[in-house]
Amino acid sequence: MAILVVGGAGYIGSHTVYELIERGEDVVIVDNLQTGFRSLIHPQAHFYEGDLRDREFLEHVFEQEPIEGVIHFAANSLVGVSMKEPLEYFDNNVYGMIVLLETMHAHNVRHIVFSSTAATYGEPERIPIEETDPTVPTNPYGETKLAMEKIMKWCDPAYGMKYVALRYFNACGAHPNKKIGELHDPETHLIPLILQVPQGRREAISVFGNDYPTKDGTCIRDYIHVCDLADAHIRALRYLNEHEQSATINLGNGEGYSVLEIIEAARKVTNHPIPVRMEPRRAGDPARLVANPEKAKNLLGWEPKYTDIEKIIETAWNFYTNAS
Ligand code: UDP
Repeated sequence: MAILVVGGAGYIGSHTVYELIERGEDVVIVDNLQTGFRSLIHPQAHFYEGDLRDREFLEHVFEQEPIEGVIHFAANSLVGVSMKEPLEYFDNNVYGMIVLLETMHAHNVRHIVFSSTAATYGEPERIPIEETDPTVPTNPYGETKLAMEKIMKWCDPAYGMKYVALRYFNACGAHPNKKIGELHDPETHLIPLILQVPQGRREAISVFGNDYPTKDGTCIRDYIHVCDLADAHIRALRYLNEHEQSATINLGNGEGYSVLEIIEAARKVTNHPIPVRMEPRRAGDPARLVANPEKAKNLLGWEPKYTDIEKIIETAWNFYTNAS
């Protein structure tokens, strides 16, 4: 039997594939390489290049492979772009989910672990955020992920499909093997952009807004290591096998850092001054997002291994300096 990882050539998907293969699982990857990278694909995985929305292609994969469970990462995930291209986001993310669930249903595959996001909450009413808190996304990206969660929710009573939606906060860091890490083209995420400065690829880091109602005026996020996320996905699959019950679960460290604090931590790790350029706010950004991760700990027995922000940034730095 095999686990299908949709989006397994992407940042979080590739780390999960490495972890699955390390634990002896057979892994099938589907990825259209629109935002994924061939270099992140594990050499032992069975790779099918194609788009989730292509029914015939996906049907072929399910016919060829003995798939017993699915982990779904394949989605557009940039807040800023989603504000400008909402239709593209709804088409790729929501329609992709429908085709995936239809194909799973047709092949009697009933377990799916889904890569959701803290962006489903929007501007939170309280910190830390619990899974039962209101979900009012402030951008189309979060809205598509919430819609995808809701589609799965209704497929549970109708078809007996069970899901775990993992709402992650800010994924970061890289595998300690230094072979895989965070790659995006163009890069828009904070930590990789900061680390481009000591790599000599950028003169300064832009800070989007210093007038938020936070201690230093910059946005606060909960940064969680990608290997801890990967571990949670595998635990979530096991949870589905053991309990046959759907769940929605936050994944974060439960600690918030401002943009300026992250830059300061990166200065320490890289021993480089990293100049800052203040810019206006980026559309769609909530001021503070910090998880209450208790449910993940209780339900999945999950405990993040990377809790020190400098250690987390160091794994990313090791990946970039090894790759360049
Ligand atoms: N950010 C920033 N400068 C950048 C990129 C990001 O100030 O060049 C801020 C962004 O406004 C947000 C935080 O860093 O408050 C994390 O952004 P990122 O895009 O990494 O992740 P997101 O929170 O959008 O998932």
